[in-house]
Amino acid sequence: MKYRSMGRTGLKLSELSFGSWVTFNKQVDAGQAERMFGACFDAGINFFDNAEGYERGQSEIVMGQALKALGRSRDSYCVSSKVFFGSHENPAPTQVGLSRKHVTEACHQAMQRLQVDYLDLYFCHRADPDTPIGETVWAMHNLVTQGKVLYWGTSEWSAEQIAEACDFALENHLTPPSMEQPQYNLLDRKRFEVEYAPIFKKYGIGTTTWSPLASGALTGKYLEGIPADSRAALPGYEWLRERMVESERGEERMARVRKLLPIAEQLGTTPSKLAIAWCLLNPNVSTVILGASRVEQLEENLAALEVLPLLDDEVQKQLAAI
Ligand code: NDP
Repeated sequence: MKYRSMGRTGLKLSELSFGSWVTFNKQVDAGQAERMFGACFDAGINFFDNAEGYERGQSEIVMGQALKALGRSRDSYCVSSKVFFGSHENPAPTQVGLSRKHVTEACHQAMQRLQVDYLDLYFCHRADPDTPIGETVWAMHNLVTQGKVLYWGTSEWSAEQIAEACDFALENHLTPPSMEQPQYNLLDRKRFEVEYAPIFKKYGIGTTTWSPLASGALTGKYLEGIPADSRAALPGYEWLRERMVESERGEERMARVRKLLPIAEQLGTTPSKLAIAWCLLNPNVSTVILGASRVEQLEENLAALEVLPLLDDEVQKQLAAI
């Protein structure tokens, strides 16, 4: 495993990291999570991603239990949480968004669920049009000065919104956001590569990128239908199934995935490993957050690192053409 600086910070994150969206508490219990974290630590992973909104906080509880059981030294790994969506089924207006109140309380609640004294990374999970940017920046700055958060950042904010937060912080001598958590994979490139280019250059924002397999689409497993044990078959994820497969957009994406298979075969690897390795070619990626519902998937995905040296200019051209 190699380690990359998170943007212009001194924090070194493992190139591959591990997240728990959909999986923890739904497909993965604490015992399985423990085995997965064991495989992650063995591989050199040092960052684990979570959010208040994942399974309404239950995902953080599972992660906290598994990390505690493994008993690794707290200074050897990083955990994150994200605030915005809330952790309640029918949230009160003060239990969602990026107000000072919710940003602060959600941080305290995440620390409790994860059983940690501080969050290494704390993200605004989406932008909040109802809260002035200055209020959120101040709230994050205060958490940093209190030692409850080490680095704060954004997720799926526009480049303009990120620039606004950075400028407000810098003008007021507050802690600016250090990282963004965007989607980035072979099928979803534009925002990362085009829209964010100026903010990487100007503000040195690091990135913890999500869905390297486009929720599993890039494994090729959806090409002949929807496997019963897959994310797209889960109750409550019909929206994802439609977006991934059962729509014009889904069909168009699947046609691209089909073209990926011979390239993986020619390299003697799997589409999953190829797709994950490809994300690491971009120097603006600080870490690629892996997802897995089983240990075997995680092990396959970790082996993507072996494929990275095979992605020469010719292969990259073939992938870009698709
Ligand atoms: P992926 O795109 O890699 O999808 C992971 C899913 O694909 C797995 O749970 C599994 O689902 C399937 N899969 C993974 N590997 C394999 C394999 N080798 N063979 C077959 N199927 C496989 O990543 P995620 O979408 O899970 O995102 C990763 C992390 O990023 C999340 O856990 C979360 O931490 C973060 N994230 C952040 C978001 C944000 O808004 N900030 C949004 C989304 C994710 P199954 O077996 O059920 O089919």
